[in-house]
Amino acid sequence: MNKHIAPKITLLGAGPGDPELLTLKGVKALQTADVVLYDALTNEALLAHAPEAAIKVYVGKRSGEHSHSQGAINQLMMDYALNYGHVVRLKGGDPFVFGRGYEELDFAASYAVPVTVIPGISSSIGVPALQQIPVTHRGLSESFWVITGTTTNGQISDDIYQAANSNATVVILMGLKKLAQIVSVFKAAGKAQLPAAVVQNGSTENEKLVVATVEQLQAKVEEAQIEAPALLIFGEVVSLHPSFKNIIKQYAAIS
Ligand code: SAH
Repeated sequence: MNKHIAPKITLLGAGPGDPELLTLKGVKALQTADVVLYDALTNEALLAHAPEAAIKVYVGKRSGEHSHSQGAINQLMMDYALNYGHVVRLKGGDPFVFGRGYEELDFAASYAVPVTVIPGISSSIGVPALQQIPVTHRGLSESFWVITGTTTNGQISDDIYQAANSNATVVILMGLKKLAQIVSVFKAAGKAQLPAAVVQNGSTENEKLVVATVEQLQAKVEEAQIEAPALLIFGEVVSLHPSFKNIIKQYAAIS
């Protein structure tokens, strides 16, 4: 290791996509970066905050792509820190919400390299908020669950079955491919008429939104050709969205 190098790592949450949704602390961290390692779901506009001379490396892992394994990213992060100094590890949303941030922290700690975590706005809360869908609301929702649709064994999470039977707002990440199965879980829980929404590319210019009852959700998602990255929201709070109010009016007019 070069004696003049002080290795350190900042795990930085980039927010859901809009580059202005980065925290001020995040901007300051990028300004002092020697190296930035960034993911597929982070906006490249954020790299402009880093010095021109900083090394910028894409280590994206979109679903289906296996450009870098987690082990390779850990090793790369460490090599850069030991050789260049301050590595900013830029991750989509919040680093600790399905971001494998702790694995990177743990790896750095095993080399005694100091790590700072700067939280980001997680898509799980930020994307519904941008649609003016509150994850909690007095009288409608006392809690919210953020669940993965795809667990390490490729199955939907068992938690979805429990959540579907609760009154919680249920936000599902990485669940688009499992939509049919997820919808059937909610139907089996007697929630066919529950309001639901799917948001693709929230907070970006490619944003798409589908709002429907659980029963209608899959057809509408197919019609709108929704693609990843997208998140699913199930819960009475979705009824607060203006387009859901219109759907209810349309049904009322028909019947
Ligand atoms: N750490 C991230 C989540 C990583 S898992 C966070 O806190 O937001 C990746 C999943 O997050 C995607 O498959 C998708 O379900 C969701 N996601 C991330 N960004 C999104 C966005 N802008 N719009 C909709 N869903 C998004």
